Amino acid sequence: MNFEDRREFAAALDADDPLGKFRERFAFPLPKGGRTPVYLCGNSLGLQPKLAAQFVEQELAQWRDCAVGGHFHPERPWLAYPRRATAAFAALAGAEPSEVVAMNTLTVNLHLLMTSFYRPTAERFRILIESQAFPSDRYAAASQIRMHGHDPAAGIVEWTPRGDGSTLDTGDLAALLEREGDGIALLLLPGVQYLSGQVLDMREICRLGRQAGSAVGFDLAHAIGNVELALHDWGPDFAAWCCYKYLNGGPGAIGGAFVHERHFDDGTGALLGWWGNDEATRFEMAPAFRPAAGAERWQMSTPPILSLAPVLASLELFQEAGMTALVAKSRQLTGYLAWLIEQRFDGAIGTITPEHARGAQLSLVVRDAAIDARALFEALCERNVTGDWREPNVIRVAPAPLYNSFGDVYEFVERLGEGLEALGAQA
Ligand SMILES: *Cc1c(COP(=O)(O)O)cnc(C)c1O
Repeated sequence: MNFEDRREFAAALDADDPLGKFRERFAFPLPKGGRTPVYLCGNSLGLQPKLAAQFVEQELAQWRDCAVGGHFHPERPWLAYPRRATAAFAALAGAEPSEVVAMNTLTVNLHLLMTSFYRPTAERFRILIESQAFPSDRYAAASQIRMHGHDPAAGIVEWTPRGDGSTLDTGDLAALLEREGDGIALLLLPGVQYLSGQVLDMREICRLGRQAGSAVGFDLAHAIGNVELALHDWGPDFAAWCCYKYLNGGPGAIGGAFVHERHFDDGTGALLGWWGNDEATRFEMAPAFRPAAGAERWQMSTPPILSLAPVLASLELFQEAGMTALVAKSRQLTGYLAWLIEQRFDGAIGTITPEHARGAQLSLVVRDAAIDARALFEALCERNVTGDWREPNVIRVAPAPLYNSFGDVYEFVERLGEGLEALGAQA
């Protein structure tokens, strides 16, 4: 598409957008200093679907009116409540319904799944992560290695970006596994790198990991609801995600997990709780454990209904919109954003997100040494723009195709220009 740097052009794209109707189904933050919000932070905390309050109130009412009977409510029994996320999770993850489950939160799920799939031996005990891994993933990997009696300093292998310092190259991963694969028990990698926004080649990572004899687990925090996934076909052993970023499930929302079906009957162990027991016999309270079919075996505990309710409200919108349409719009939104920035700022603002491997997010960096990047970020905040700052110098912005518009992108670039001007005036 040929983009144009005119507000009317952005408005015309919005008028033609088949997903435009979803915008009004979300609550946007309040105006500030007389300025409407430009919210580009759905990669950190998605906006509230207006349906969310109704979904939560429904469960509060059920608790109020039915008390313990709510577990067996004829329409929405809490016993089966997490399963209301299953169809949408399976669609978003590219999985069979039996392979996904709503439970816990992300880092907890990474640990739980590592207890099943990180099974180190004396010779093969290392975990491969990327060198700029999200801290929680690194801490989780290091502590798993320590719990198994190995030294994390020796046990963590890092896949490092080359050249520009931020783009991960799958060829480098192949070479690393060629050299050191024999000692690696697990590849724990993101689907989308949180800092750079790079979408990793998950299919190839799975192939390389299996070829090296290693388990493969994905952290999909920035991938789920952002890019199309085909976990069942790609074949990682496990994956986990949170629901508060692109999935708009609310702060601290319940997370999701994937276990590939080849592990359902292969003797893979799991830490068990009564919610992983088959529903048919769970309340017999018998000493013997009868595993639920599929990924539900990994669910340990009574699910948090009030945390799930807003997630379900948002998943309805995802089901209605469909990932194929969302991704098509996302490419245009982010493409327009990148194009406008290039047009307007003549290299002073650049991006570390590789053009051919991006989802919604663009990670901006200030290339002009005369501009203070942190001050620029604050100038954006003052103009009611929400993106986020990541040390040492990255401003992340992510137009979410479910509720952001081309007008938002245009307005962001306008305010970025204002911010740069204000800083220039100070200098
Ligand atoms: C957001 C994010 C997390 C957060 O984990 P929680 O357990 O939900 O706090 C972890 N890892 C990555 C890569 C993330 O982007």
